[in-house]
Amino acid sequence: MKDQIKVLVKLQHIDTETVRIKSTLNDVSKKLENLDYSIKEIEETIKDQESVLNELKKQYRDYESDVKMNLAKNKKSQEKLRSVKTNKEYQSLLKEIEDVKSKNSLIEDKMIECLDRMDETEEIIRKKKDEYLLFSDRIKIEKENIEREAGIDKKKLEELNVSKERVSDLIDIQLFKKYCVVKEQHQGGLAVVPVKDAVCHGCNVNLPPQLYNELFRYDSLKFCPNCHRIIYLKEE
Ligand SMILES: [Zn+2]
Repeated sequence: MKDQIKVLVKLQHIDTETVRIKSTLNDVSKKLENLDYSIKEIEETIKDQESVLNELKKQYRDYESDVKMNLAKNKKSQEKLRSVKTNKEYQSLLKEIEDVKSKNSLIEDKMIECLDRMDETEEIIRKKKDEYLLFSDRIKIEKENIEREAGIDKKKLEELNVSKERVSDLIDIQLFKKYCVVKEQHQGGLAVVPVKDAVCHGCNVNLPPQLYNELFRYDSLKFCPNCHRIIYLKEE
């Protein structure tokens, strides 16, 4: 029984390790996704700012053509000025020219504002592009690390599978079945636990003295009366 318990503990260790590595491997795709998500966020910001910049450029061109149109209009009015007959006509034409001039001056203010905003947006894009380059280099390295570690874990998992087969062959089938049942009862947690100084290490409850004494005999499989796990004597 002592040897069987030893093998069982070994099997349990293999199972625990297997679960741990599998959960690490499960996290791999999530980690990779998170990295992709962060870089996508920067990409989106660049795209958004580029469309803002295009809008500003379009707006600027519109202003430009308005100014040009107004200048042409005023040029025509200036020519007309020479041929007007009455004072009243002259005055009203002058006023029209002044109005168009002040309109243009307002548009030019807006153009300056527009240029400032274009500069600011270009600066944001430039910074985000730098950030993107730095970040994509970092992500490349991080991804390589994650994938390398995953490769190591996968290899470990294969080794554990081989060990499990080897160890399982050494265990009595009835004992193995018991182990599986107890493990199932504890949601895949520990099924075999040591007892030290009469205390079960599965639930930290004291064993009855008689059961504790029986453990020293190793003549049959023993269970903790409290947590129902398979117990064995922890030897220093
Ligand atoms: Zn217990």
